[in-house]
Amino acid sequence: MNPYDNYIDMLRTGASLSREEFSDLIENRDKTDRDALQKAAVEIRRKIYGDDVYIRGLIEFSSYCRNDCLYCGLRRSNGNAERYRLTGEEILEAASYGHKIGFRTFVLQGGEDPFYTAEKIADIVSSIKERFPDSAVTLSIGERKYEEYKLWKEAGCDRYLLRHETADGEHYAKLHPEEMSLENRKKCLYELRSLGYQVGCGFMVGSPYQTAQTLAEDLLFIKDLKPEMVGIGPFIPHHDTPFKDEPAGSVELTLFLLSVIRLMLPEVLLPATTALGTLDPLGREKGLKAGANVLMPNLSPLSVRKKYLLYDNKICLGEEGAECLACLGRRVDNAGFKTRMTRGDHIDFTAKENK
Ligand code: SAH
Ligand code: SF4
Repeated sequence: MNPYDNYIDMLRTGASLSREEFSDLIENRDKTDRDALQKAAVEIRRKIYGDDVYIRGLIEFSSYCRNDCLYCGLRRSNGNAERYRLTGEEILEAASYGHKIGFRTFVLQGGEDPFYTAEKIADIVSSIKERFPDSAVTLSIGERKYEEYKLWKEAGCDRYLLRHETADGEHYAKLHPEEMSLENRKKCLYELRSLGYQVGCGFMVGSPYQTAQTLAEDLLFIKDLKPEMVGIGPFIPHHDTPFKDEPAGSVELTLFLLSVIRLMLPEVLLPATTALGTLDPLGREKGLKAGANVLMPNLSPLSVRKKYLLYDNKICLGEEGAECLACLGRRVDNAGFKTRMTRGDHIDFTAKENK
């Protein structure tokens, strides 16, 4: 057997690859049978989640950020970014509208904005949970203190998304200002895990200075953390950042990695991201066919949509939640999958099988 197909077979049967094997697989991926890889990824996904695609409503509630990540349009040094904050009431209104049209998961995302104290966030989470006890709440607001994560868990928060961005320390330092560290990022993820959150990590594909070796590091870290969710999407330059002239990441490599991650963690919740849909009009559909099973349409009020710009040319800035949902529903159907508006929790398949 071709050694590269052998790697895929190893992943499919639950064996782990070494650092060298992962980077060899990525570097020489044109030598793998891509159809077979995708087929294996979709098959394993089908075994656990059927053809279901879970829909999460994304509420982008603050475009202020105290951080200065070099890749991101919301970085504090970007004086041209338009800044806004939604009030607790506006966030609840967005969730209410989402709930009315069928959403049962709300992802509250924003820049790292200290204006939202731990107590404010806890209030927002608990009011959504009180009003919509059938729904899951996910936070994605960056690095905070253990006590804050704890407070939000106690307020009813179910999940937390914090992409690790890159698991290679040197690479991390090239993407972030000095005051940020991979060590703290990882610490936050392990703390979230210990508090009982369903945790999501992830990274951009094709971020500047990324190599097959740093990607191998990412895959090993994911294998170690065993997150319930993994968010990966292509890097896309933003015109007001130091990386404005860097090339965007590749759709092809993103799809390849989605399949590899699906094989590595069969039960993982894996979104086909908006960034993927931005680089390729059928990117999200291709993501689903590569093994993804989550879509995260935008539920932010239309008045602020155009101000939450992490990267250039972001899609879906002009449609109401209901329109987005209808459009995604058609796309999911056409790709041969089924839209599910349920909470769509992570399934612990091995535990289920052993019962
Ligand atoms: N402030 C929070 C959440 C908002 S940013 C945080 O950083 O965790 C959410 C994600 O957007 C980041 O994790 C990053 O991976 C992604 N992102 C930022 N800039 C991007 C860019 N230029 N292209 C693609 N993705 C980007
Ligand atoms: Fe802020 Fe997140 Fe953008 Fe970094 S990626 S600048 S933390 S919004």
